[in-house]
Amino acid sequence: MSLPIAVIGAGLAGIACARSLRAAGYAPVLFDKGRGPGGRVATRRGKAPDGTALQWDHGAQYFSARDPGFAAALAAAGAVPWPDPRRFTGTPGISSIGRILADGLTIHTARHVTRLEGGPGAWVVHHADRALLHPLPPETPAGPFAAVAIALPAPQAAPIADPFIPALAARCAEAVYAPCWTVMAAFGELLPLPDTWRSTAGPVAWAARESAKPGRPSTEAWTIQAAPAWSREHLEDAPETIVAPLLAALGMPAPLVATAHRWRYSLVEHAIGTPCLFDADQGLGLAGDWCLGGRGEAAWQSGTALAEAIIARGFAGPTAGFPRHGSSHDR
Ligand SMILES: Cc1cc2nc3c(=O)[nH]c(=O)nc-3n(C[C@H](O)[C@H](O)[C@H](O)COP(=O)(O)OP(=O)(O)OC[C@H]3O[C@@H](n4cnc5c(N)ncnc54)[C@H](O)[C@@H]3O)c2cc1C
Repeated sequence: MSLPIAVIGAGLAGIACARSLRAAGYAPVLFDKGRGPGGRVATRRGKAPDGTALQWDHGAQYFSARDPGFAAALAAAGAVPWPDPRRFTGTPGISSIGRILADGLTIHTARHVTRLEGGPGAWVVHHADRALLHPLPPETPAGPFAAVAIALPAPQAAPIADPFIPALAARCAEAVYAPCWTVMAAFGELLPLPDTWRSTAGPVAWAARESAKPGRPSTEAWTIQAAPAWSREHLEDAPETIVAPLLAALGMPAPLVATAHRWRYSLVEHAIGTPCLFDADQGLGLAGDWCLGGRGEAAWQSGTALAEAIIARGFAGPTAGFPRHGSSHDR
């Protein structure tokens, strides 16, 4: 009989964890504060002033896959080569990769997990509508769960894990993330730039012509990522002050539309160097890109490793009547 395991975070690490658990006969239940699965594998959609469709992959740009499990997952998600034969994106946007890989999993979306309660074999996940987080969230309990996988960026994972596994939670502080200010812009003319642009100096680290990616709208649209040092220097600046300096750094003209998004936790600069963290007695573990490195592939490997640790530990118990508590956000 399948057993309920809570997976907090439906980015690549959480999705990988949930898929492995499901394949082993468990019943994973994902919680994510986002509107859908994928986390930093994200696509923003918009419209030009004339109503033309626009879109930007404003988080991860592409994936490479040396790990056979991640390569198989990319193939299953229909990923296609871009910007060269060894790197891959999704169509019609990179977010399709997370969406397809999460298909069929039980996910509570738009739910911000605030805390855990209970203990081994009887965990309760408290979650709140992300729109109502301030000033005080009305919490909803879900559970009981046999085990819990926390698949969040390290700074967000630590406070949830700390009351129960403080020594493992303390390791989250070893991970270092770079922030990334990202500008999404569209133009009324073709810009005299290559489809991808990378630099190790100056305010801009990477820029990509969205309209050159496979299956995208044809309007000239660009994603421009600020360098880590520039993003740190301007971390608390207002979004409307971010667009002009980054466009100017690339000599871009006035855009039709432009907006900026701040990733507080973008690429991992220092990972803790272990695939995942798991307390077998508590049935509580941690996974994410911060365990092995700042790439989608590392997140996938980490989530898979945590699922393997949970499966190896083994959990038993009835599932009749589950979930006793829960929201109606199942996909
Ligand atoms: C700008 C940018 C560019 C990048 N470029 C690349 C690239 O080109 N190639 C590459 O391989 N990687 C790239 N990455 C990194 C890659 O996106 C990540 O390594 C990977 O997606 C991390 O997956 P994850 O599951 O560990 O975390 P996430 O994707 O961050 O997933 C965590 C999930 O947890 C949710 N969450 C957080 N807190 C809570 C809470 N309290 N309750 C409920 N849910 C919560 C979030 O909504 C999110 O969905 C890039 C990242 C960024 C931001």
